[in-house]
Amino acid sequence: MSDLTSVERERILAKSALFNPPEATLPDGRRELVGLSREELVAELAALGEKPFRAKQLWHWIYHQGVTDFAAMTSIAGPMRAKLAERFTVGRPEAATVQTSADETRKWLFRWRDGQEVETVYIPDRHADRGAVCISTQVGCTLSCRFCHTGTQKLVRNLGAAEIVGQFMAARDSYGEWPSPKDDQPRLLSTIVVMGMGEPLYNYENTAKALRIIMDGEGIGLSRRRITLSTSGVVPMMDRCGQELGVNLAVSLHAVTDELRDEIVPLNRKYPIQELLDACRRYPGASNARRITFEYVMLRGVNDSEAEARELVRLLQGIPAKINLIPFNPWPGSPYQTSTYEQTAKFAAILNDAGYSSPIRRPRGRDILAACGQLKTESERTRRVSA
Ligand code: SF4
Repeated sequence: MSDLTSVERERILAKSALFNPPEATLPDGRRELVGLSREELVAELAALGEKPFRAKQLWHWIYHQGVTDFAAMTSIAGPMRAKLAERFTVGRPEAATVQTSADETRKWLFRWRDGQEVETVYIPDRHADRGAVCISTQVGCTLSCRFCHTGTQKLVRNLGAAEIVGQFMAARDSYGEWPSPKDDQPRLLSTIVVMGMGEPLYNYENTAKALRIIMDGEGIGLSRRRITLSTSGVVPMMDRCGQELGVNLAVSLHAVTDELRDEIVPLNRKYPIQELLDACRRYPGASNARRITFEYVMLRGVNDSEAEARELVRLLQGIPAKINLIPFNPWPGSPYQTSTYEQTAKFAAILNDAGYSSPIRRPRGRDILAACGQLKTESERTRRVSA
């Protein structure tokens, strides 16, 4: 079983490498520094004859201060700053579109150097000065979850670590949240959910590298407890994610029988519900204090009966879990309708009675095409029309 898992893991990583992003280098040859690991940064500077402390300084300016201009890095002597500026850049993605909803949800369509685009969303907590940034890990997606608009877009490529970290940094720019707040100081952008476009465990290496940068205490310093990675259930990669990153886990479950889940989340044909839940049971660090979140999109007449709620309770036995009930956010041509509020409330009551926290997520940003992937489709349509 474990041999099979490691073979499967190698296969997933090899396939993922086929979709790697282009080199993070400008046409004039300058190298992007955002997204380099500490070790890579040290190596880049060593190639210039610089000592490792220089990398530490740069890390501080890039990730703690949020500075993009070498001239502003005042602890570094002028001639050295000029030398750095000749060879390197500290970039941000271009925001092709920014929309802020009436409920203050903000959505960006970020465009990369090769013209590819992904979406990033900031969802503020309206009762406190904090909020979650939802970041993407792939342009398009190989999976075709039937309730998901991104699932209608084919996978173009993985995002690089620079592009994954860059989404969060650009969102922080937008709210002026630099320098990075220390330790437990309040943060407006206080949590990250890796839940945007793409399946992060099909782009594990780049995602892991980006999250390590974000968690580094001498830079952005967001703790692993404030990061949740959401997967559709790439079972062979889940253990590795837990052991190496220790971030919170969310699982897109959405159905309680393999028959239905095969249809809604086709990855289930490869990793069926029992295997997925076994992987959740062994997920390192899951405890009552750090529950695994199960996402359950409420589809009218499809997966929302009271019998299904009871079956969900049975399936989750022994897993420290909470369940997010998500009203389906339809898009033009989508095959489902959202459950009625009454039915969702009945479903939630059964879960609550069994001791599970099961908040009903309020739909956010309905006025700004907030279904994941919609903004990108709209942008492509507009570009096609104006081409
Ligand atoms: S829900 Fe996630 S994994 Fe499924 S198609 Fe959408 S982006 Fe891909």
